[in-house]
This record gives sequence, structure tokens and C-alpha cells, in this order.
Amino acid sequence: MLDGDETNCDSCDMDHEIVDYMEMALSTAEIAAHRGEVPVGAVIVDTASGRIIANSGNQMVGRSDPTAHAEMLALRAAGNMIGSQRLVDCDMYVTLEPCPMCAAAISLARIRRLYFGAYDPKGGGVEYGARIFNQASCHHRPEVYGGIHESESAALLKNFFETRR
Ligand code: ZN
Repeated sequence: MLDGDETNCDSCDMDHEIVDYMEMALSTAEIAAHRGEVPVGAVIVDTASGRIIANSGNQMVGRSDPTAHAEMLALRAAGNMIGSQRLVDCDMYVTLEPCPMCAAAISLARIRRLYFGAYDPKGGGVEYGARIFNQASCHHRPEVYGGIHESESAALLKNFFETRR
């Protein structure tokens, strides 16, 4: 598990690209916080071309839409971008463990790998709660890597909720 911005950890055969993409998702989460949204950011990369095809933050407040989670918006944008409902060979980087809704959508989209930052014991649906990818009704399970830039992702959320009290 990666902790903080430590770069000499065991798992740091880990691609620098992974860290870069997660940092991008973190910046997007920060921008979401400035708009008064719970700070979560999601980036989708088309691994065939190496292109970033979506980069979205939460917009539930701004859109008055309870489903406007960063992951949902990123999946829609990516689908539009490549003209397909199936995001084959695409990876998602998101700062927080996806909720059950987003995990189901990630499976439907056939995302290849899911990298997430902070674990979410209260609202997560991947390692906690519904564990969507472990259900028999789940027909595509992405490879999952949690805890990437975990402390930064969690700190963003913590600061956000502290300043709202
Ligand atoms: Zn969600």
C-alpha cells in the first residue's frame, strides 16, 4: 500500500504514470471542493493510446443530481469520447473507493483496472459494503488497486468536512 508521497516504498515498482494520474484525480477533487462538492475526482485513461479521455469531479450539488458522482461523470464523458459504451482497455483512477452505484457502472463499462485512493468503510462498495465486484451478478470484475495516495485523498475529504462544520 502506498502511503503519502513516499516514493521508495516496496510497491514502487509501481509505474510513475499511476502516481501521475492519481495526482491529476486529486487536483480535480480539490477543484470540486472549491465548488462546494465533496472532493472526489476521477480520471479515465485509454491505455491503448495513453490518452486521458475523462477527468471529472463530483457535481451532485452543482447539477442537483444525486448520481453525479465523479466516476459516473467520467464514465459518461469517456463513452462519449470514444463513441462506445464499453471502455475496453481503459483504466480508472479515483480518489475514493467507489460507492455501489459507481462500482456497478464501472463493471458495466468494462473498465480494465480500477485504482483508488482512500478506502471508504462507510460508503464504499468495492472492499466494503456491497462488494459489488464479488457478487455472482457481476459479470466483469476490474483489477482493483486501493490505497494509492491514500493519505492525500483522505486528508482532502477530512479537511472538507471539518471546514463545513
Ligand atoms: Zn459513487
